[in-house]
Order: sequence, then C-alpha cells, then structure tokens
Amino acid sequence: MDTYTLAVYSSLLAITVASALLLTHKYMFAGTAVGVNYIGYAALFLGISIAPLLLGFTQASTYIVLFSNCTYTIAFCLLLAGITIMRGASTSFLLVSVVITAFTIVFFVHNTIIVPSVASRIETRSILVVTVCLLAAYANYSGVKHDNKRAGFLLNLTLFINAAYMAFRTMFALTEGTIADYYLASDVHKLSFVVTTITVISLSFSVFWMLTDRMINKNYRSSITDGLTGLYNRRGLTELIPKFVQAGRENDISILLADLDHFKKINDTYGHEQGDKVIKHFGRVLQKACRENDACFRYGGEEFLVILPKVKQDQAMLIADRIRSHVKNTSITEQICCSYTVSIGFTRALFDDDWSSLVNRADSALYEAKSRGRDCIVQR
Ligand code: GH3
Ligand code: MG
Ligand code: MG
Repeated sequence: MDTYTLAVYSSLLAITVASALLLTHKYMFAGTAVGVNYIGYAALFLGISIAPLLLGFTQASTYIVLFSNCTYTIAFCLLLAGITIMRGASTSFLLVSVVITAFTIVFFVHNTIIVPSVASRIETRSILVVTVCLLAAYANYSGVKHDNKRAGFLLNLTLFINAAYMAFRTMFALTEGTIADYYLASDVHKLSFVVTTITVISLSFSVFWMLTDRMINKNYRSSITDGLTGLYNRRGLTELIPKFVQAGRENDISILLADLDHFKKINDTYGHEQGDKVIKHFGRVLQKACRENDACFRYGGEEFLVILPKVKQDQAMLIADRIRSHVKNTSITEQICCSYTVSIGFTRALFDDDWSSLVNRADSALYEAKSRGRDCIVQR
C-alpha cells in the first residue's frame, strides 16, 4: 500500500475512535470516567497529525511538518495523562507529560526550521513514543483503580509493541540515508501507519473493556448492597453464604441477629424519615464494631445479621455487647431523633449446622432476647 492510502486510513480511524471515546465519556458516563476524555483527545490529535499527508503536503512544507509533529507530540502526552488519570496513577506523570511536550516541541522547531533534517525528526518522534509508551505502561501498572487485569495487560502489551517498533525505527533511521520524499519512504516507515492503526484499535478496546468491567462491577455491587445503610442486602447474603458455610466448617464462625427495639413506635412518633436515619445510624454502628473479615447485612426492615468468621465465642460476645452498649449510649446529638436500643440473638456454628439451622437458632435467641425485655443479648 502507498503512504497516502495508509495515511488516509490511519487518520480516519484515529478520528473515529476519538469520537467514540469522547462520546462515551460525555454521554455514557456523564463525565465520571475520568481520563477517558484525555485518551479521546489523544486519538483526535493523532488523527489530525496525520491529516496534512492527506492533503499532499510534503517535507518541504516546513510549517505544516512542524504542525504535524507538534500535534503528534501532544497526542502522545495526552495519552500518558489520560492513562494516568484513568488508572489513578501518581500525578507526577502529568508533570512529566507537560515537560516532555515542551522539550519535544523545542526539538521539532530546531530540526524543522533551524537545522532541517528528516532523519532527526524521525528520531525525535521515535524517542518521544518510546519514552511516553514506557511511562504510560508504568502509570497503567501502578494505578490504584481496581480495573480488569486482562484489559490492563492488553493496554500494556499495545504500549510495548508501539515502543518496540519505534525503537527499531530509530535504529533503522540512523543507518538509513537522508529521506528526500516522505511519500517514497521505505516500508519500515510505512509500517508506522500500520502500527498506529493497531495501537488505536487495541488501545481503545482496552479502555472500553476496563469501562465495561467497571460498569458491571458497579451494578453488581449495587445489586448486593442496601441503599440506605451501605451494608450488604439479602441478595448479598445469598451470594456470600457458600463462602461462609465453607469457612464455618474450617474455623469457628458465629452469627448475630440484631433487631431494633420498638421501632414501630419511633416511626409513629418521629416519622418514617427519622426512622430511616436511625436505621442508617445502626448500620454505621455495625460497621464500626466489626472487623475487616466480618460481614454485616441488612436482613430485613430493622433487622440486621452479622457473620463473624474466625472468632471464639467470648470474642463474639464482646462484639455483640459493644454494638448493644454503643446503641444504648448514643446521644441524640448524633443527628438522630431519639435514643433507641437493640436486642441481639447470637449463636456459634456447630459442625453439623447448615445455614438455615444456624439462622433459626440465632432467630430463636433473638426472640428470647425480646421476651426478656429487649436491650439484651441472648446466646444459643
Ligand atoms: P420489636 O421491639 O418487637 O422489634 O418491635 P418493633 O416495633 O421494632 O417490631 P416490628 O417488627 O413489628 O416493626 C418493625 C417496623 O419497622 C415496622 C416497619 O414499618 C418499620 N420499618 C421497616 N423497614 C423500614 C425502613 O426502611 N424505614 C423505616 N423508617 N421503617 C421501617
Ligand atoms: Mg424491631
Ligand atoms: Mg423486626
């Protein structure tokens, strides 16, 4: 294929992908997928940097060449910035990206206007791409966002392939004589359009893969979480039961069933909205009282279940009492309408327990706590 056709295809592809990324950022994610817009602008600048070739500009058109190389530089630095922001990597990559842009543009001014040299420009472009791709790969690797690992690997593979090709191209350019006409440049240079095409497709695919994965995870999390308290809901419990049943066979495991006392009265006296605030408050109390491996669930309206894995009976009792006394000593200044109390039924898994026998025992312990006058813990 000739240089012109390759340029047409890679420019149009980059601009199309840029539009897809920018539309996705603006409309699908309403601006919340931070960094994706930068990657979109990177693709746009890349497409624009190739565009002058479509109009038949040659290496002789000095300012057009300079424009093309500057937009190309900005494209790669925007890519580094986009990956840094999207993956939640260190913001120092952003500073590095600005510095690289400034230096590279100075180099291009020098080897386009002051001492024109095609080979030197190819070297500058290649060094830019190698540096930026390796930095972007590191930013992707060190980012703190929990993204799909395979998508992250594909993104880095794309960046490495790009860097490897550009390193090879630099060495080739150093051994090659002066290029008189870019349209007649050798296949190694033409290959850069193919590499650009592969990069744009693979890079955007990795980004869309990460975004889709984030969306699926977010939907899954909200489907197993209670909107009012942020604790797991009943569906979350169903999902996690097998894990805890297995853990219960291997280690001590206890469960607490907690029910707020006379909650109907709170609703009747202060209204449903205030009642919600009390439920929310109790959710926070549970979260504070529990350890990292414990799991708290909103089991029903004002009923909660806590799974305490790897905990001895006396420790579980301590946790239950911490919850009960925290609630009892809550002052009304904690943005709730009134003081309240909680009754707790508590049991430890026995070897031949299944999930329902365990919960039934906790439930009958809770029932007894209610009949003993509430605001107490009963163990079964
Ligand atoms: P007991 O001490 O025996 O548990 O008395 P109670 O009044 O708490 O018992 P009951 O289970 O009869 O009442 C629970 C009340 O909780 C009834 C229901 O209207 C209320 N409730 C359930 N879910 C919510 C909720 O999401 N928000 C509010 N504000 N109230 C809720
Ligand atoms: Mg109740
Ligand atoms: Mg109840």
